[in-house]
Amino acid sequence: MTDSCDILISGGGIAGLTAAAVFGAAGFDVICVDPTPPVTDRDADGSDLRTTAFLQPAHGLLQHCGLWDRLEPHAAPLQIMRIVDAGGDIPEPRVVRDFNAADISDQPFGWNLPNWLLRREMVARLHELPNVDFRPGTGTVSLFTRTAEARVGLSDGTRIRTKLVIAADGRNSPMREAAGIKVHTTRYGQKALAFAVTHPIAHENVSTEIHRSGGPFTLVPLPDWQGQPSSAIVWMERGPRAVDLLNLPEAEFEAAMTERSCGLFGPLKLASRRTIWPIISQSAERLSAQRVALMAEAAHVVPPIGAQGLNMSLGDLRSLLDLAQARPEGLGDAQMLEAYHKARHAEIELRVKGIDLLNRASMVEARPLRDARAVGLNALYSMPVVRKTLMQMGLGVR
Ligand SMILES: Cc1cc2nc3c(=O)[nH]c(=O)nc-3n(C[C@H](O)[C@H](O)[C@H](O)COP(=O)(O)OP(=O)(O)OC[C@H]3O[C@@H](n4cnc5c(N)ncnc54)[C@H](O)[C@@H]3O)c2cc1C
Repeated sequence: MTDSCDILISGGGIAGLTAAAVFGAAGFDVICVDPTPPVTDRDADGSDLRTTAFLQPAHGLLQHCGLWDRLEPHAAPLQIMRIVDAGGDIPEPRVVRDFNAADISDQPFGWNLPNWLLRREMVARLHELPNVDFRPGTGTVSLFTRTAEARVGLSDGTRIRTKLVIAADGRNSPMREAAGIKVHTTRYGQKALAFAVTHPIAHENVSTEIHRSGGPFTLVPLPDWQGQPSSAIVWMERGPRAVDLLNLPEAEFEAAMTERSCGLFGPLKLASRRTIWPIISQSAERLSAQRVALMAEAAHVVPPIGAQGLNMSLGDLRSLLDLAQARPEGLGDAQMLEAYHKARHAEIELRVKGIDLLNRASMVEARPLRDARAVGLNALYSMPVVRKTLMQMGLGVR
């Protein structure tokens, strides 16, 4: 069987589902495929317990495609980003600096939502869009391109003729491989534990990033859980230590994370499974090939610092949408894809390098380096212009 569409999206992770909603709402005929059906229940096996902090620029895009009204009731606003250096002899705060969104705008920095819930609401939105055909359980298996179109083979034997293939199929992207695009990868020997907690002390919409060694320990606000203040935690450590933590009995794990949090929120209590994620940096040499555009983790992977990962992906999406709407008759042609590569590649490289540096600074073990990190944080913070610029760069508005 052969089907056709304007845009075939390979991948129905958060990025692919958002892309399907955005292009569908803009009137394009979209087919989105993913071999793994989305898990949309928090406590089901395989549910994604990471959260996504959508930063300010995401708001317009999500509103435009009809997602924001579904997401807003579940979102926790992030008003303050607190950076804590706890790199002294004992795990206690020695430098605490608050970056307040009020210094640069009248909006919070962003809004935090669990990934499993995002999938649930995004799939529901796609069902409302008659020109979007979401096919969970089916993957892309082959790619053949010509100047005028791409032909993509699916795992159920169907062939799709399309003007544009968007590869949103993750860090090992099969469509990127089929298009022959190479990547540069950096491995840190580091993993992240992601889970939810409750705590007796309210978070007051403050996202807290604590640096000691091994990588940051970040608490991001969630709405209350079972009547208790709740946060999502991303705890980055060297690989073997992270695996040990994953396997600790619950009471010992709770004691370890309370110590690592410097007790800032009182005793932390696990409120979900623990999940573990390998940490790498990766960027694709090019963002496009004939009739193919790479976006999200197919194009760039960064350590989870400063909520950059998916927000960079939304930058990719905004750029693709603008180019597609400016010249719909040129959808997926060489001119559009060259413009996409030029618009995004340098910006992505800069962010991947910047986050790599921040991660290395957070991982340091040696005491003099940890002391230098605390001095650096103080110095940056004490210059108001630098502080504001850093906040704007973090949001992607500069
Ligand atoms: C611990 C952690 C915390 C994070 N926190 C944040 C945060 O707060 N804010 C933020 O912006 N980012 C954050 N990120 C990054 C963010 O989670 C990722 O950028 C995002 O989830 C990746 O989405 P994706 O859709 O590109 O990739 P994936 O989620 O990997 O999705 C790719 C999809 O492609 C599918 N696929 C594979 N093969 C095929 C095929 N042949 N055909 C079709 N589909 C295929 C897969 O099944 C998968 O569903 C975090 C990352 C980590 C590790």
